Amino acid sequence: MSTHDFKLYIDGAFVEAGATFESTDPASGEAWARMPAADAADVDRAVRAAHRALNDSAWAELTATQRGKLLTRLGDLIATNAAELAALETRDTGKIIRETSAQIGYVAEYYRYFGGLADKLEGAHLPVDKADMEAYVRREPIGVVAAVVPWNSQLMLAAVKLGPALAAGCTVVLKASEDGPAPLLAMARLVHEAGFPPGVVNIITGFGEECGRTLTAHPLVARVAFTGGPSTARHVVRNTAENLAYTTLELGGKSPVLVFEDADLDSTANAVIAGIFAASGQSCVAGSRLLVQRSVRDRMLAILAEKARLIRIGNPQDRATEMGPLATGRQLAHIEATVAASIAAGARLVTGGRRPESHPTGNYYEPTILLCAGNEVPCAAEELFGPVLSVIAFDDEEEAVALANDTAFGLASGVFTASLTRAHRMIRRLHAGIVWVNTYRAVSPIVPFGGYGQSGLGREAGAESIRDYTRTKSVWIRT
Ligand code: NAD
Repeated sequence: MSTHDFKLYIDGAFVEAGATFESTDPASGEAWARMPAADAADVDRAVRAAHRALNDSAWAELTATQRGKLLTRLGDLIATNAAELAALETRDTGKIIRETSAQIGYVAEYYRYFGGLADKLEGAHLPVDKADMEAYVRREPIGVVAAVVPWNSQLMLAAVKLGPALAAGCTVVLKASEDGPAPLLAMARLVHEAGFPPGVVNIITGFGEECGRTLTAHPLVARVAFTGGPSTARHVVRNTAENLAYTTLELGGKSPVLVFEDADLDSTANAVIAGIFAASGQSCVAGSRLLVQRSVRDRMLAILAEKARLIRIGNPQDRATEMGPLATGRQLAHIEATVAASIAAGARLVTGGRRPESHPTGNYYEPTILLCAGNEVPCAAEELFGPVLSVIAFDDEEEAVALANDTAFGLASGVFTASLTRAHRMIRRLHAGIVWVNTYRAVSPIVPFGGYGQSGLGREAGAESIRDYTRTKSVWIRT
């Protein structure tokens, strides 16, 4: 893989785009690579290539087991090239090398998991009440998939789309985010090396309004798998009014972490810190609202503030660094403005709340904790996508559940308690697609991932997710 040579990957070839743009290193603020920006004609070429490949014998006649082996090979190639991919993701997004290196191991596992699943997708024989008829259901690939991802965790967010789509026999146009597309554009070389026939996987990047819109509205696209912000999701849904593509959405969150007085506060604090400050808070499942029982609020705040101040901010490529910069200057400005508005609205700053003096350049922001009276304060209400923890106290379970569920989102949640019966009560009542008990942020290819409410539609990962890339054909035979 060559680090600075980024091209679109369309129909099995590395090609120039209609335009280019510069990608900025978030740690230094310097432009470091020239990226291709796919225009409407590039997108159309990619979709047409995927559409041709869908029914081309080189792909359509592969058995499910053979498709699975290609996916497993891609997983293996990703594992072999993990160091290089992780370094590229760190360079282009500012996510620290410790995190990108750890995540890339998971990414390889996701491809291997879906590779293994390819030939476990079964149709059904149906016992119809007609003596002279046989009926059965075939599962066929749904068609051309448009996969659109945001900049955070691009390799992972692509894996949960490409994996099931290819296992099911679909073909894909994957759109990397214009903010930090390097790792996915580099992965195209591994897709090529794995031996997928031309047009089966196309990897492009470009701006939302032209590249994203053309792709998700394209008449030859049958399926849209989108991850991003809720307002972009509304555009995507409007785009799919054109092609009526089957659409799944993985969106944002304002995930609550409930801490009860019987929890072990020190280990809970470690999980809370990792839950909000990993990836500098730029994670859809960030545990950004800490709901803590009033009797332990002050003790918890003191432990958290001390741990937050000890977080080593620094160069994301340095293995000793524990928190890096935000991915974009836009993101930093948004966080600064929201924290200021929250303090003006009555939130008390416990720690952080500014750019670190040690890192005046780059998009750095200190780990920040704000004590809020309720969910109404901007930092407790809005998804910030930054290293800002909003803390709210509650008196009893009833109030904890009411505060937790008082959001339009519903992606993840956490419960910290020594009581198993209380944990079960919370699990039943929390309005969220994921509940972590006495842990936070665990993921696996085997476990479905997705949200309630404005956090999305559909689920990724897990064995069932492959069905969303198929359509059924009902067959009747007179015997
Ligand atoms: P974003 O919504 O701005 O962009 C996501 C993608 O959509 C990008 O590739 C962008 O180019 C594309 N896009 C923009 N406009 C478009 C349009 N009109 N039509 C089609 N595509 C368009 O998201 P972001 O700011 O890059 O990422 C942050 C958001 O992603 C947060 O809200 C975060 O919670 C969410 N997210 C969710 C998950 C999840 O799995 N639930 C995971 C990671 C991030």
